[in-house]
Amino acid sequence: MQYCLNCGAEVYLNYCPNCGQKVTVKRLSAKSLFEELFYFFTHIERTFLKTLFEFILRPGVASLNYLKGKRKNYQKPVSFFLIWTGLYILFHNITINYFHYLPDRVNPALAAIKEESNELLRSNFTLFFLPVLFVSAINIYFILAKPRFNFVEITALCLYGAGCFNALLFLGDVLLGFVFRININANPVFIYQTTIAGSYNLWFCFDFFKKLQLRFFWSRLLLNALFVSLFGWMVFLYFPYWWLLLTR
Ligand SMILES: [Zn+2]
Repeated sequence: MQYCLNCGAEVYLNYCPNCGQKVTVKRLSAKSLFEELFYFFTHIERTFLKTLFEFILRPGVASLNYLKGKRKNYQKPVSFFLIWTGLYILFHNITINYFHYLPDRVNPALAAIKEESNELLRSNFTLFFLPVLFVSAINIYFILAKPRFNFVEITALCLYGAGCFNALLFLGDVLLGFVFRININANPVFIYQTTIAGSYNLWFCFDFFKKLQLRFFWSRLLLNALFVSLFGWMVFLYFPYWWLLLTR
């Protein structure tokens, strides 16, 4: 008879029936650390990147799989969102500082506060992203998902969508800012990002909700994409600016 080293339960097979720990846990050695390192990277390849590709290329199937309980192959939604948001904003800031990309200056009187609000947005990106995520979930829930799916399920899908969106922004920064040396802090790039947001939202919702045979499907789809893009645009463009005006 073997006992689990983690919780003490009796174990008959390779994994503890109570807590799930492997039976063959040994004392830590250099080999086990290397094994963990190796596992981390192969694991990232298997779940983290797979989650990304699946939710970009076939978001409908991936969403249904996840909601119906086929979850082992996917990174969990909150960590997926946080990791991509972190990676994107880290890389964005490094690129902007390294190549000295400055924001467009339209009006000299506004330039200072514009730059300051840009800075505020970049250093608190996740904070500004959350209302966009929340409003997107509300939009999708009321316009497309109700009553087939509940609000929390839609929020989980929005976390995947937002994670993929930030991964796409990350990719855009790498290509435009790093490879082609285009100023990624200027308005044209911002418009390009809004376009990505709108079309990815449309693609995600189309691929997922087309299975439900909704009435007025295309009108609802377009209305939702329009609302989500407009609100996102407003938040990223004006919220930091209003924040500064209100707090001084
Ligand atoms: Zn156990």
